[in-house]
Amino acid sequence: MTPLNLIETLIGIVGPSHVLTGDDADSYEQDWRRRGRGKALCVVRPGSTDQVARVVKACSEHGVAIVPQGGNTGLVGGSIPDGSGTQVLLSLRRMIAVRAIDPQNMTMTVEAGCVLQSLQEAADQAGFLLPLSLGAEGSCTIGGNLATNAGGTQVLRYGNARDLCLGLEVVTPQGDVWEGLSGLRKDNTGYDLRDLFVGSEGTLGVITSATLKLYPKPAAQLTAWAALASLEDANRLLGLAHRRAGASLTGFELMNRFSLELVDKHYPHLRVPMWREHAWCVLIEISDAESELHARGLLEQLLENAFEEGLVADAIVAENLKQVHDLWHIRESITLAQTEEGFNVKHDISVPVSRIPEFVRQADAALSAALPGVRFVTFGHLGDGNLHYNIQAPAGSDAPTFVTAHEAAISTLVYDLVSQHAGSISAEHGVGELKRHKLPQHKSAVALNLMRAIKSAIDPLNTMNPGRVLESST
Ligand SMILES: Cc1cc2nc3c(=O)[nH]c(=O)nc-3n(C[C@H](O)[C@H](O)[C@H](O)COP(=O)(O)OP(=O)(O)OC[C@H]3O[C@@H](n4cnc5c(N)ncnc54)[C@H](O)[C@@H]3O)c2cc1C
Repeated sequence: MTPLNLIETLIGIVGPSHVLTGDDADSYEQDWRRRGRGKALCVVRPGSTDQVARVVKACSEHGVAIVPQGGNTGLVGGSIPDGSGTQVLLSLRRMIAVRAIDPQNMTMTVEAGCVLQSLQEAADQAGFLLPLSLGAEGSCTIGGNLATNAGGTQVLRYGNARDLCLGLEVVTPQGDVWEGLSGLRKDNTGYDLRDLFVGSEGTLGVITSATLKLYPKPAAQLTAWAALASLEDANRLLGLAHRRAGASLTGFELMNRFSLELVDKHYPHLRVPMWREHAWCVLIEISDAESELHARGLLEQLLENAFEEGLVADAIVAENLKQVHDLWHIRESITLAQTEEGFNVKHDISVPVSRIPEFVRQADAALSAALPGVRFVTFGHLGDGNLHYNIQAPAGSDAPTFVTAHEAAISTLVYDLVSQHAGSISAEHGVGELKRHKLPQHKSAVALNLMRAIKSAIDPLNTMNPGRVLESST
């Protein structure tokens, strides 16, 4: 069979307007960071699980590889095809049905192509909270979120995408449908297949639908912004916030001075508070089951105690919902502000919260010694021990040239230090294409062998997103 035969078969399954080639495929072939571009045999856009199954079966019969894609906001190059022009890019973006909401079970069952924000809105309209929230929520899909086990800003309280998923429907690499859309919170009937597919980055199958946990909507969400002198103080404040707020603490975000300086420089209208005078700022979010008054009392008491203990140099509590959104908007603009400044070397790492100050001190010192003048865009989800530790070229130097010349050495240094601090080289973005060659140095041989055994048992022909997460040859 030739590629043309396969394209004809795919057209027969999804219709001619949903098999794209040439310029029509262009936007699917470019990754979000503009670090990579692939070339697909074609883009296929099925509209139902049955169509996904038939597409996957046809590709499997032709021995043709498939790259699943949701919103294409992934940051590790796993959602675009390679450059061979032989892979089929399977876009889930037409599968956007909310199949069911079960208010008593507090679950919603949705199709993989639903954009995260639309699901937050659907949950809200039904009187619930879907507590998965990330900067890309207006574009990323729930299928992509589950395939990457996305994190975001509320992991501290509600967990990551894995923790919010009760069941999955998956098309296997052979084109069979595993209907595992359980709404059960307890089910100990053997190996957890759901947990295998969550975080598998399209290498084990195509997620077509999921049953997600919903939560009661909090009566109020309130945010404070505080300035601190050191990371040790940030950690102590985090501990205090855990003790004072308990389960009401839903977010604790950290930002260094330079990350806020970039927001101020590129988006001056956002009016970033306190960044000039202080080395670190944190954003604290409280979700309160009682009332805004109660939330305000809690936050004010927390900050008062923090001032007494000398942890906080300055602080504000948002006056109203607009200010809450404005403060979050500043935090979420860091990602784009650093892009405006030019390419940088990104790391999405985690270490135990207790080791963050030492990690940052050692990494900053080693990199400043090796590359004088480098600038540190350090921010992230301190409450989860997850930092985006990004290295910007020295002021005035050419960013792309700097990245090309130094990326490999910088990342080796950072990841070695992460391992020394018992951390992970990918906290929430996944492995994809960009980090797969790093895994053998940072995961044990036993763990890697188990991962390879799982991959070859489920996808023996290696047609599901080959070469991502694990090297193809392994
Ligand atoms: C501005 C910005 C902010 C971000 N903030 C965060 C953050 O705070 N936390 C975080 O975790 N991530 C963050 N990300 C990264 C990204 O948004 C997440 O990884 C997201 O979960 C990807 O979803 P997607 O639908 O875009 O997936 P894609 O990018 O399309 O795909 C990602 C991976 O999942 C696979 N995949 C996609 N859909 C499926 C499916 N249905 N079945 C099987 N495999 C599939 C792909 O093959 C690929 O390997 C951010 C990205 C941007 C651009």
